Amino acid sequence: MHGANPILSLKAVRKMFGTHAAVDSVDLDIAEGEFFTIVGPSGSGKTTMLRMLAGMDTPTSGDIELKGERINDVPANKRPTCMVFQSLALFPHRTVGQNVEFPLKIRGEDPKLRKQRALQLMDLLRLPQSYYSKNVLKCSGGERQRVALARALAYDPQILFFDEPLSAIDYKLRKTLEKELKDIHRETKKTFVYITHSLEEAMVMSDRIGVMRAGKLVQVGTPQEIYSTPNTRFVSEFVGDVNVIPVNLGSDGLLHASALGEKLKAPRLPSGFSKGYLVIRPEFLTFLSERPENGNALGGRLYNEYVLGSRIQYQVRVGDSVFVVEKLRQQPFTGHLDDDVFIGWETNDAILVTD
Ligand code: ATP
Repeated sequence: MHGANPILSLKAVRKMFGTHAAVDSVDLDIAEGEFFTIVGPSGSGKTTMLRMLAGMDTPTSGDIELKGERINDVPANKRPTCMVFQSLALFPHRTVGQNVEFPLKIRGEDPKLRKQRALQLMDLLRLPQSYYSKNVLKCSGGERQRVALARALAYDPQILFFDEPLSAIDYKLRKTLEKELKDIHRETKKTFVYITHSLEEAMVMSDRIGVMRAGKLVQVGTPQEIYSTPNTRFVSEFVGDVNVIPVNLGSDGLLHASALGEKLKAPRLPSGFSKGYLVIRPEFLTFLSERPENGNALGGRLYNEYVLGSRIQYQVRVGDSVFVVEKLRQQPFTGHLDDDVFIGWETNDAILVTD
């Protein structure tokens, strides 16, 4: 986390709707200048959390502090923050320039300075200067997204909140805008708080990610930490394809996988671990020509393969379970469908998690 001082602090924040806690006892510090993303499945409480942070809703209990000052009841328009919506909310029938300049106009800035600042922001957002007098309705979806962001930046807020701004945009453009947003974050040095249900999107852009589940913030970490050391089965499965083996820690120090009839070597044990799941990502599984004498291996049958662009994914049936193995396309597995195969992994490439 960069910067020692949090710009936003949440202390035991809870939001009740009737008897349902949409956000439940969340503690979190967001550092000044950080790109922080909240991810979670539908209904996990992301929007409720963002609405409270932006001042569009108040917590039922707990405190939200901005630079150490309690702001629970300060309305959105009195906060030095700005929300960029999925639905864009631009003024139709107005030009790009009029849209970007709006915040400066309501602040009573001189028209000449307004235009100068709008052109600067358009430049930052890679919008051609000729667009200054273009009607926003004639702009593409991606361009409108940039106009909305330029307008948000014109308010010069301390924090920008983003509510799934890219979800309605097609894949290729979304990938481009994700990278641009990351660049803009770096160039403006502002604090960005972003919500999305797409962990992939969060991974590309964020300094840190907070994963929500049923109103609780279940893990906070860098993209690398969330990917390589998930603390629960839920987080590990949220991050992408994984192989999950239910295990018990035996008195022999080995992991007993009774469903597979195997005893496996244990990677680093979480403290107090006795029962949980061994998680292995598909890229850490390899095909072996024979069962190694002293390593982790499972015997199974190759039963499907899929080409996923630069990677190939293989499915291997082991007993009643299906394991996923991934290889780079340049280094495919040379076996055939229905072959008997062994799959193995380095003990420390697997992770032990609880529920
Ligand atoms: P999505 O990704 O689908 O937008 P989310 O993670 O943003 O979901 P929220 O919209 O914050 O989730 O909703 C969290 C929970 O709170 C849900 O169970 C939802 O039904 C409930 N909820 C949200 N707003 C209200 C409301 N105004 N009144 C009653 N219940 C609500």
